[in-house]
Amino acid sequence: MKPKVAFYWCASCGGCEEAVVDLGEELLTVADAVDIVFWPVAMDFKTSDVEALADGELAAAFVNGAIRTSEEEEMVRLLRRKAQVVVAFGACAWLGGIPGLANLYGRRSILDYVYGEEPSLEEHDGARPQEETDVAEGHVSLPTFDDDVRTLDQVIEVDYFLPGCPPPGELIRTAITALIEGTLPEKGSVLAPDVALCSDCPRLPSKPEKPSVKRFVRPHQVQIDPDLCLLAQGLICLGPATRSGCGAVCIAANMPCTGCMGPVSRVVDHGAKAMSAMASLLEADDEAEADALIGEIADPVGTFYRYSLPASLLHRRREPEAAGRSPS
Ligand code: SF4
Ligand code: SF4
Repeated sequence: MKPKVAFYWCASCGGCEEAVVDLGEELLTVADAVDIVFWPVAMDFKTSDVEALADGELAAAFVNGAIRTSEEEEMVRLLRRKAQVVVAFGACAWLGGIPGLANLYGRRSILDYVYGEEPSLEEHDGARPQEETDVAEGHVSLPTFDDDVRTLDQVIEVDYFLPGCPPPGELIRTAITALIEGTLPEKGSVLAPDVALCSDCPRLPSKPEKPSVKRFVRPHQVQIDPDLCLLAQGLICLGPATRSGCGAVCIAANMPCTGCMGPVSRVVDHGAKAMSAMASLLEADDEAEADALIGEIADPVGTFYRYSLPASLLHRRREPEAAGRSPS
């Protein structure tokens, strides 16, 4: 009997599902080695198909996306019960990811903006989605929109974490092979090398021993030297604070690392680590100069916590009931 596996998506963009499809012909090899019994984005399975499985009957469930609704929570609890191994697939499931930036706002603010303030071709009529509604055709239920975005392991026990936004094909292949061959590492492992990206970066030889930054710049503001370490050019590259395993593809495209592979195992808070790495480079003579340099960093939360706000020590911005939307 082939091992049964499930793929599921929660609050995600679909990129992680795309990454599985991008395995191309190798997907056929995977499909040959395992029995895919649940994959809503690709095949017409129903929740009842999962419910009908015995507890632990799934060899593995790969879950991408963060947790934002009651439906997602119910599904991952169900998959946890049915699976021997649960893999948090991608940055959103592991750390909260891009959808986790919604934790800068409260539930009420988000609904007010989307259904009341957002520029629209149609007049806003003040309507809000209701969880329970009676219509002519019958009764309609919607999932609860939670107050915050949570990581998968803030909701269920997770066995492995596959980093990346989305995870690189090579890491996906290695993880699936290890699952099939029974060679997965210790539970709780992140399935990627436990070293910082700089150690794999082709520009490492040009990284100054002690880089110092007089001015932070953004990629569109400068002509980027394709061979020189990006930090040495004043660009905020999170390579020193981010796990390797991506093949440094962004660096090869002349773009600084934005941190999607998450932290190495010794780091508790990826954003704080990244901030501290950048702060140590500042070449300022006094506090006022340091403040001015820091002031040049556009969108500090989006820069340092782009993929990890829900997993961070901060987790979310607490919004007083009467406060406006601005997170600043
Ligand atoms: S990790 Fe990236 S690619 Fe995957 S669902 Fe989240 S945003 Fe999309
Ligand atoms: S800081 Fe960025 S560009 Fe420089 S060596 Fe590290 S990963 Fe490469």
